[in-house]
Amino acid sequence: MLNSAVRMLDEAAARYGGRIAVADESGELTYSAYRAAARRIATALLRKGVAGRPVVVYLPKSARALCVFMGALYAGSPYAPVDAHAPVPRLEKIVESLRPGAIVTDAALAENLKGRDLHGAAVCLYDELAAAETDETAVDRATGGVIDTDPIYIMYTSGSTGTPKGVTIPHRGILDYAVWVTETFGFTEETVLANQAPFYFDNSTFDIYGTMKCGAKLVLTPESLFLFPLRLPEFLRENRITAIFWVPTVMINVANSGALEGVELPELRTVAFCGEVMPNTALNVWRRALPACTYANLYGPTEITDVCCYYVVDRPFADGEALPIGKACENMRVLILREDGAEAAAGEQGELCVLGSGVALGYWNAPDLTAKAFTANPLQRAYGERMYRTGDLAYRTAEGLIMFCGRRDSQIKLKGNRIELGEIETAAVCVEGVENAAAIFDSDKQEIVLFVETKAQLTLRRFNLELKKRIPSYMLPGRLVPMEHLPHTANDKIDRVRLKTML
Ligand code: AMP
Repeated sequence: MLNSAVRMLDEAAARYGGRIAVADESGELTYSAYRAAARRIATALLRKGVAGRPVVVYLPKSARALCVFMGALYAGSPYAPVDAHAPVPRLEKIVESLRPGAIVTDAALAENLKGRDLHGAAVCLYDELAAAETDETAVDRATGGVIDTDPIYIMYTSGSTGTPKGVTIPHRGILDYAVWVTETFGFTEETVLANQAPFYFDNSTFDIYGTMKCGAKLVLTPESLFLFPLRLPEFLRENRITAIFWVPTVMINVANSGALEGVELPELRTVAFCGEVMPNTALNVWRRALPACTYANLYGPTEITDVCCYYVVDRPFADGEALPIGKACENMRVLILREDGAEAAAGEQGELCVLGSGVALGYWNAPDLTAKAFTANPLQRAYGERMYRTGDLAYRTAEGLIMFCGRRDSQIKLKGNRIELGEIETAAVCVEGVENAAAIFDSDKQEIVLFVETKAQLTLRRFNLELKKRIPSYMLPGRLVPMEHLPHTANDKIDRVRLKTML
């Protein structure tokens, strides 16, 4: 039995040491070199006294960032990947919640941390950590002390009150998930997977650990390429990619760009996607262009280890038809519960709830939020079986396939990014002259419309410059509607139904 996810790296280095583990724009890294680099970093982190406390990884997406993830794990600490482009005040909120032992970064990004309250975290430059000499005994001792229910990573996701929530995943979630990925998609050391997901988005765990488990090669697609979808198939061909796991927005962009017309990608076998609804209109463009591939719709929130449901597309779908999210992964169980806590009958809509080894330990340093979202299974009272309530609505078809029907709250998905509209509103009321704000999602136009109560003259461009200091660019509204007074309901809440009619 494996206690820590780095045991997968130990195994891969022992069996496939000379094979390429990761390729990025700066070069290639073998499994042996990957493990050696991670253990040097672990040694340096231990010397810095991280002692099991989280390690924030504040680096651009790269093989170096992966070495730090593994370095933290070898040191017996969980890692917390953060967006290198995130506004610094958001990063400060994360550091405040996390109280990390160290923040690993590079010289350029370290500038952003100067003069900030880092709550005692040591700021460590990658180059210095990577130059350490490994203390094998100290690293073995630190890794040996980990058990599979210890946290492996903390990933911050949008929070409705304006503070990001730190989802804490245990090692066993990843250990089981890696087995599930390789078995379900038949990955081997010959697999070459092109990553798309940022490392602070949990879809990246499919890529990182699905390849590590079987000695496969992980290719970090340059982030800028996703701005030019026409060029992506060329990249897949040149790198002899056999598998991709991309967010639907990217697949839709590729389909709409015309890049798939007459395309030949004989090596590509697996096309998996997750994170938002995949419209069959776009999927059908892929299926017609590349009929030999296996297509799979994966579903899951950050609060479980990436994925808990999947559907391998096994029949034709008409353009307007909905794609199922299928059934539970083999290490997970999914319940669809009615509001009264009873199980919904076939065809009846309810909240999708998840149980199993992939369920998160909770939100870091946020017991109240944890208690609300992670509850006991109401159908099984003999012992407190932990269950995560996703807030997603779903139903089961007569054949037992799960269909996704949207959210029961104000969380949205925009271009694959999970956003709590409340986080935008909290940032908006911090802008001078703004009394109140309500963010509404226009699903037809796929844009966020921000209604602000203000007497000031505001333009979208200038307002967004202010907002960008607090929230990531992907959360910025596409439209701004200044109003003297926001409409209110009889019980004095903002009348969001009315605002929706004003879109
Ligand atoms: P995240 O935490 O960023 O992974 O976002 C999780 C949310 O994205 C879920 O709760 C769903 O609302 C949505 N989602 C994820 N996968 C799918 C899918 N395959 N189809 C539809 N919605 C999805």
